[in-house]
Amino acid sequence: MGKAILFSAPSGCGKTTIIKELMQYFDCFDFSISATSRKPRGEEVDGRDYYFLSHDDFKARVDKGDFLEWEEVYQGTCYGTLKSEVERIWNNGKVIVFDVDVNGGKNIKRYFGNDALSVFVMPPSIEVLEQRLRSRGTDSEEAIAKRLGRSAEELKQAPHFDVTIVNDDLQRAVNEAKQIIEKFINE
Ligand code: ADP
Ligand code: 5GP
Repeated sequence: MGKAILFSAPSGCGKTTIIKELMQYFDCFDFSISATSRKPRGEEVDGRDYYFLSHDDFKARVDKGDFLEWEEVYQGTCYGTLKSEVERIWNNGKVIVFDVDVNGGKNIKRYFGNDALSVFVMPPSIEVLEQRLRSRGTDSEEAIAKRLGRSAEELKQAPHFDVTIVNDDLQRAVNEAKQIIEKFINE
């Protein structure tokens, strides 16, 4: 077994942004590409950001037992971690980086135990979170409402994670993450 780092937070808190910065800094990182039944957004590319599957293909892979965990994060939209991603990354001797919803994060932490560091990314406030979701400019009003609707409940789950990082100033948050992660991977 190798090591894994997982990032969870309500949508819009900045997980993807922070992970992109960390991927450039840590050569040992490899990103676990999740499967999803939603359509690509913005500049997203199949096989790089996600494996984009139809709803039927996603369910067929659930039935085959291909997922380590999966969730219907939003009604009608599923996301999941493929077992094959874990094998691929550990076979290459790398540290797995997960970007998963809050329930998925708790499940993955339970699965990997001390081999995983679970990081909760906290927004400075709900108001700022809403602004960021809007300024991202990739989601419809309906999608933003769905995402915000989940966030209050998700924010309550922060104490279940190993560490919480407040994403106020991006560079400050990234630096804090670097320090915590360096300690974990050198343990
Ligand atoms: P998530 O992956 O958690 O859904 P994103 O990384 O897509 O969130 O970030 C949501 C939006 O907020 C993006 O437009 C991103 O550029 C912006 N953002 C992320 N972190 C910060 C920050 N510290 N300050 C200001 N804007 C940020
Ligand atoms: P988005 O549509 O913004 O890319 O992602 C929506 C939510 O799904 C985010 O909270 C993201 O972390 C989560 N997510 C992405 N991949 C997975 C996964 O493999 N498993 C779980 N449980 N959630 C995921």
